[in-house]
Amino acid sequence: MGSFRSLALVLLVVFVAPVAVRGWGVDGHFITCKIAQGRLSQTAVEAVNSLLPEYAKGDLASLCSWADHVKFRYHWSSPLHYIDTPDNLCTYQYRRDCKDEDGVMGRCVAGAIMNYTTQLLDYGKQTSDYNLTEALLFLSHFMGDIHQPLHVGFTSDRGGNTIDVHWFTRKAVLHHVWDDSIIETEEERFYGSNVDDLTNAIETNITNVWGDQVKAWENCSGSQKTCPTTYATEGINAACNWAYKGVTNGSVLEDDYFLSRLPIVNWRLAQGGVRLAANLNRIFG
Ligand SMILES: [Zn+2]
Repeated sequence: MGSFRSLALVLLVVFVAPVAVRGWGVDGHFITCKIAQGRLSQTAVEAVNSLLPEYAKGDLASLCSWADHVKFRYHWSSPLHYIDTPDNLCTYQYRRDCKDEDGVMGRCVAGAIMNYTTQLLDYGKQTSDYNLTEALLFLSHFMGDIHQPLHVGFTSDRGGNTIDVHWFTRKAVLHHVWDDSIIETEEERFYGSNVDDLTNAIETNITNVWGDQVKAWENCSGSQKTCPTTYATEGINAACNWAYKGVTNGSVLEDDYFLSRLPIVNWRLAQGGVRLAANLNRIFG
């Protein structure tokens, strides 16, 4: 009986732990990658499967938050998750904005997307200087981040990280509201706390509601494989028009804010997923 109980406890920990972790910032990335996975060409599916570690069992979405988990081990990678733009300008310029705090050019999420896209073009070559598994995981994660409006935010508030608000009755910072709270509240209220049901709903909208926009989302001018300037420009626009709008330190954000911003979050998750797939299809095509 005792050993049965400890076995039950082990099983409980094994099955409950991943769900608990996912609730903290993972759902947005999971949804983006899940949407992308369903839109990959056969060649891209094969490339992704051969690059993923065995334990992922071909499921890219299960490793879409890997880049957040290695931030501390790969300290150099933390500035690659976002872009700081000048306060209140609401524009993005690569040369002006895509650098880290030491001023090193290209060290921002847009530069990282370019860099890992270039690395992945080595796939299929005899040799490569790069770790293409890590390149795939970084690219898949950063395509999510660049579509989170406050990952292309203002410099002085660090993308909303220093703006204290209340999310309904709980204390939060505005950045966290956009990383997690809107998605979590949406899942709780409308999808029985089930991330797969929310993912399915967004996929249905991609076909029905946004069907006539999808070609434009996927499009990248000329022969480019990825267009991060477009994604970042849309991001700072959404940050100004929706995320920052009407919010000051101490704001209480409730249904007015939640219900008007929720469509923006779903739309950006959809775009991130559609474009990740389009980019991978162009890279491995
Ligand atoms: Zn990130």
